[in-house]
Amino acid sequence: MADTLLKLARLHDGPEIFHSLQGEGISSGVPSVFVRASLCNLHCRWCDTDYTWNWEGTPWEHERDQEPGYQKFRRDDTLIEIPARQVAEKVASFSCLRVILTGGEPLLQDKAWQTMIQHLQEKNPAYRFEVETNGTITPSADLDAQIHQYNVSPKLENSGNSASIRCHAETLAFFAQSPKAWFKFVISSSEDLAEVDTIISTHAIPQSRVLLMPEGRDEPTLQQRRLWLADVCRDRNFRYSDRLHIQLWGSQRGV
Ligand code: SF4
Repeated sequence: MADTLLKLARLHDGPEIFHSLQGEGISSGVPSVFVRASLCNLHCRWCDTDYTWNWEGTPWEHERDQEPGYQKFRRDDTLIEIPARQVAEKVASFSCLRVILTGGEPLLQDKAWQTMIQHLQEKNPAYRFEVETNGTITPSADLDAQIHQYNVSPKLENSGNSASIRCHAETLAFFAQSPKAWFKFVISSSEDLAEVDTIISTHAIPQSRVLLMPEGRDEPTLQQRRLWLADVCRDRNFRYSDRLHIQLWGSQRGV
């Protein structure tokens, strides 16, 4: 099997691969190994993994632009290329068979994930793989056959991305028909709810597979939003997702 390189987020001297608890969505609380891909095809203004795409020289705006000292990232400081087999070895060093491919946008590297997954399944067929995606890229049939769960998070107007790059009808149709897909919408205010309704109805997304999650990169913001969003979820019959990792560890990386 030819090995391929994975472009991953760099943390200190190595790739951002860590053992933790899933913090969001339908598997929240489940022990998992996270592999964080670098690169994203979107540029959400509130993105909390902006080091995967907000490179020097790009024009994207970010909420943190207002913070003293915030500046765009040097690509070479925040991206590391690693052979897929080596990534698999690192993942296998943790005593955990649930692996989350996250990012950035992991589906930009379809082929390389196939190689990593194949290495891991040769070690132990009980491995299970979850993909966190922004819902704009359809996985290949080969990768789809290896994945057990998708956490699809279509982006709304509040992300600052234009509709033409954040809404891909064919890809959303693919995920809407997949029994492996769950949809998570990031909600900043009540104005986002009509947009969620439109996306769900336009793309035939089953409401029973939709979660609403408050937007927020810190606990005070989340606390303000989670109370009204919990009421919305109860009254409108949506599942609610919190951001457990922010509650537990704040914005710390690699935990
Ligand atoms: S799609 Fe995800 S990783 Fe990409 S910019 Fe948006 S929040 Fe960040």
